[in-house]
Amino acid sequence: MNRSVKILLILLTGVLICSLCGCNEEMMAKILGKGIIKMEPFGTTPDGKEVNLYTLKNAKGCEVKITNYGGIVISLTVPDKDGNLGDVVLGYDNLDGYIKNSPYFGALIGRYGNRIGKAKFTLDGKTYTLAANDGENHLHGGKVGFDKVVWDAKEIKESGNVGLELTYFSKDGEEGYPGNLTCTVKYLWTNKNELKIEYEATTDKTTVVNLTHHSYFNLACQGNILDHQLMMRADKFTPVDKGLIPTSDLSDVKDTPMDFTKLTAIGSRIDQDDEQLKYGLGYDHNWVLFSYTGAMRMVASVYEPTSGRVMEVYTTEPGLQFYSGNFLDGTITGKNGVVYQHRTGLCLETQHFPDSPNKPDFPSTTLKPGEKYSTTTIYKFKTK
Ligand code: BGC
Repeated sequence: MNRSVKILLILLTGVLICSLCGCNEEMMAKILGKGIIKMEPFGTTPDGKEVNLYTLKNAKGCEVKITNYGGIVISLTVPDKDGNLGDVVLGYDNLDGYIKNSPYFGALIGRYGNRIGKAKFTLDGKTYTLAANDGENHLHGGKVGFDKVVWDAKEIKESGNVGLELTYFSKDGEEGYPGNLTCTVKYLWTNKNELKIEYEATTDKTTVVNLTHHSYFNLACQGNILDHQLMMRADKFTPVDKGLIPTSDLSDVKDTPMDFTKLTAIGSRIDQDDEQLKYGLGYDHNWVLFSYTGAMRMVASVYEPTSGRVMEVYTTEPGLQFYSGNFLDGTITGKNGVVYQHRTGLCLETQHFPDSPNKPDFPSTTLKPGEKYSTTTIYKFKTK
């Protein structure tokens, strides 16, 4: 009997035993090396839209919970070096928290991730004015960005992996942007503990697009992130002005606190007397990732020494916003009654550079009718 026939027989015996003893779907899925999806109601928005919570459990028994309100990742549970499971993202237990006051916890960000200076840009000779929701600037898509809308959701099962496909139709003129934009984001939670995010969009008028994901990670599941070690494959970053708008320059990280070319503790230089750190109140900058061709490559890695957890980031994007949770200040009480103090979580937002619509030398964020916006990012979890 050849090897594949043997494996098939073992699997079939497992399935048979399972059905005879009344095993549940979860045990069956584990035996078959497949993930499972569970859907439950998660509440209703103030304008009466029903929202669901999807639990994606992979064959390893690790879980990601995602809601179709803002495409928010509510929890992401992965093992530490001893196999103990822990939730590594910040957020709330219920929909109400996200609706009332959320600094973009776990959300999908659009139509434009990060800032557009003076909330204005010009395309084909026409100037568009956007919502100014960060002083005089536009941040993360405006007052009601893609993080605050209800997306249509479809469950996905693909080669044993589970996922969620979210679709949102952003109308011409929404938050000041031109063009009807159809946007699809596919989250896939693989059996290798990878959260793969595929973003796609098309428009019927020339517009700008820059989609990202805004999870706040804490790989220790407690305390702040200052002892987390970070490596980013970038030897330049885009310096900013006081309002966190890029100056148009690309600066070398060498001999500055922005140098994360080797795994370095985030807290080791964060309080240095450095103008850029002062403007950001810590790290809140875009790094210019190496070899941007639109192909996928590993761009960053985070290691948390006590838990041994590691998160690797892969992307097709040219930039990475590293935000060290500087605006968390103890005023938010999140999941399980935990108070989110200063720098309790870190964000690694793959993106095109901030303010690109006003920076002709940056990679373009313009999307024209007939073109397809398409980017992919993976957050991969392991231990060492
Ligand atoms: C930005 C920060 C902003 C934060 C909001 C980050 O992506 O870079 O400046 O305060 O999002 O939570």
